[in-house]
Amino acid sequence: MTDREKIEAYDGPAGGMGALASSMRHVARQGAPLRTTAALLQLNQHAGFDCPGCAWPDPDEPATFEFCENGIKAVAAEATGRRADPEFFARHTVTELAAQTDFELEDHGRLTHPMRYDAASDKYLPVPWDEAFATIGAALRALASPDEAIFYTSGRTSNEAAFLYQLFGRLFGTNNFPDCSNMCHESSGVALKESIGVGKGTVLLEDFALADAIFVIGQNPGTNHPRMLTTLQEAHRRGTKIVAINPLKERGLERFAHPKKPLELLGGTGTPIATHYAQPLIGGDLAVLHGMAKVVLDAEERAPGTVLDHAFIRGHTSGFDDYAARVRAIDWATIERQSGLTRVQLEELAGVYTASQRVIVCWAMGLTQHKHAVPTIQAIANLLLLRGNIGRPGGGACPVRGHSNVQGDRTVGITEKPAAEFLDRLGAAFAFEPPRAHGLDTVGAIEAMAEGRARVFVSMGGNFAAATPDAEYTWAALRRCHLTVQIATKLNRSHVVHGREALLLPCLSRSERDGNQRVTVEDSMSMVHGSSGRNAPASPHLLSEPAIVAGIAKATLGARASHVPWDDFVADYARIRAKIAEVIPAFADSEARIRRPGGFHLGNTARDRQWDTPTGKANFLFHAIPDLTLPDGQLRLMTIRSHDQYNTTIYGHDDRYRGIYGTRRVILMHADDVATRGLADGDVVDIASHFDDGRSRVARAFRVVAYDIPRGCAAAYFPEANVLVPVGAVADGSRTPVSKFVPVSVARAAQPVLRER
Ligand code: SF4
Repeated sequence: MTDREKIEAYDGPAGGMGALASSMRHVARQGAPLRTTAALLQLNQHAGFDCPGCAWPDPDEPATFEFCENGIKAVAAEATGRRADPEFFARHTVTELAAQTDFELEDHGRLTHPMRYDAASDKYLPVPWDEAFATIGAALRALASPDEAIFYTSGRTSNEAAFLYQLFGRLFGTNNFPDCSNMCHESSGVALKESIGVGKGTVLLEDFALADAIFVIGQNPGTNHPRMLTTLQEAHRRGTKIVAINPLKERGLERFAHPKKPLELLGGTGTPIATHYAQPLIGGDLAVLHGMAKVVLDAEERAPGTVLDHAFIRGHTSGFDDYAARVRAIDWATIERQSGLTRVQLEELAGVYTASQRVIVCWAMGLTQHKHAVPTIQAIANLLLLRGNIGRPGGGACPVRGHSNVQGDRTVGITEKPAAEFLDRLGAAFAFEPPRAHGLDTVGAIEAMAEGRARVFVSMGGNFAAATPDAEYTWAALRRCHLTVQIATKLNRSHVVHGREALLLPCLSRSERDGNQRVTVEDSMSMVHGSSGRNAPASPHLLSEPAIVAGIAKATLGARASHVPWDDFVADYARIRAKIAEVIPAFADSEARIRRPGGFHLGNTARDRQWDTPTGKANFLFHAIPDLTLPDGQLRLMTIRSHDQYNTTIYGHDDRYRGIYGTRRVILMHADDVATRGLADGDVVDIASHFDDGRSRVARAFRVVAYDIPRGCAAAYFPEANVLVPVGAVADGSRTPVSKFVPVSVARAAQPVLRER
């Protein structure tokens, strides 16, 4: 226990004074208050830049201060006065840096120069850009097949950079475009595509103002999409029912004090958010949703024609009868055992649903990172279809994306499974025959690198080594590469877990000026809008993401792609958008449309009740409830974020809303589970996971925290707990790592103290 470590119940609201204090501490700590403040005044403004944080949409009329605590932290981290420059790298070997925590690595600040790993000195040394590009080009051309290259993308990449990146990779000859979405909402995309014909949410921000009920399932908006609390607070005030379904009691779903409303700020307690809160077992959501649907169907049986939207079901859906029969056949004992909720509780939740005409269901990783994630999300679609809540104002499906442009990257071609039509149009637009064979997703990329089938790994942003499962296996896979290339703004774990050769290529951040260029991003609700940073670049040696892609492409493809005007594209991104529109008609006239306040909607066939499915209808898809019972002594662990974290970026060691301070090596357990294992709150344990692949995985020295979580469940932060999740343990259909359902056991730690990672 360091002197800062403490576990102390937090009784304040989400937001409030705590958010202000934490934000100011963070800005001060980064040592560039003026630069940060200047950037914040541009954040999420029409003429400004889009937040590099999550993908919660911006209102058409943004407030003067249109950001949250995490937005402030993200911008302050970009605007930081700290620099990881050549002098810094000259002082540290990579081995020394690798021993530092994720927090310490990021805390060194902004990368300033392209750097190359020098094995002789075990240090990164400065390298000229053109030499770096030439090195990458030579390594790629030396491959036996283009499929030995991996082009990874994190969700911060702009549409323009992502479009050029996929064009380059496909001209090179591969579809190996894994992205961070593979690890997060891939399950949502796969599920919704089969159910309603489009892999995206169907609602707009304005629908929240019309909804009678909003369900928030497996999502913690207070930490991961904080401005959503403003929308939920306004809805609650209008009398909208807010139903939270989450194994953990998340403060952001309980109470919120709006940091920009002085009365609330001074009031201190905040206002309620959820009107109903249910804590199912981890992984119990499919049983919850089937239980609710069963109640809805029973209510219809008791009063035919009054509960279900028969006209919608008849006119727009397929498979209702089979689905209804199979739901009715599920026994309540199974539903209660697998959900962890009682029939009475499920009747109450279903009652909110049937009493509401317009219902939105929101979700996030709590649903997508399970073996049965796709069936669970299809159960949400089923429930919404029962009462016609798709394509109805105030109703619909809302997977909330965690990264600012993760949806946009996918839209403009960052996918290992590109649609034939997209490839046809891309080939026509650039006069070549794109590769047709599907490529590798994130899990496939790790396995290919581990088995030596992939030798060059290029990462556009992100922190692959920290975000991915099975840390020891994945790190060994990265280290087996001939070359790893990291395009990034700040130092992170993936830069010290590198290939035989390694390059760090520093790029402009979202809040920085890129000449007078504007990029575009797409939020969780398919709204595309412009973004242009205003801050002076952190170093004169930075390049924009599009310029870096163009440099790599020219150095690799040479004459093979001399017909592609890379330099023209880099000189004016409007030319890239014109090509995007040629390949993706929904982007037609985007130049004019991104100048409108709020930008433009890409359209959504399901929202228009046009069903792009094999049946031409929305599909009721039934899946049996899996038996998730674990052997005695095991717990179902989920990996979570702390409040001082954004994806793998660690801003600090506090998790204020959960009352955890100064440490991240904690495991949350039910007090009875602690006691039945002869442990006490505060004991230090090793966590072992149980998968039948013959490998043992242990996360060492975690402090037990007795917490309000259902019996048999546990939680720990990622990336620390990622070591427990096998690369091969993935969701059916989407191959998303099952980080939310990890069978574990705990035992008193062999070595009670371990440095924070
Ligand atoms: S809610 Fe998300 S997008 Fe909005 S300011 Fe916060 S982190 Fe940024």
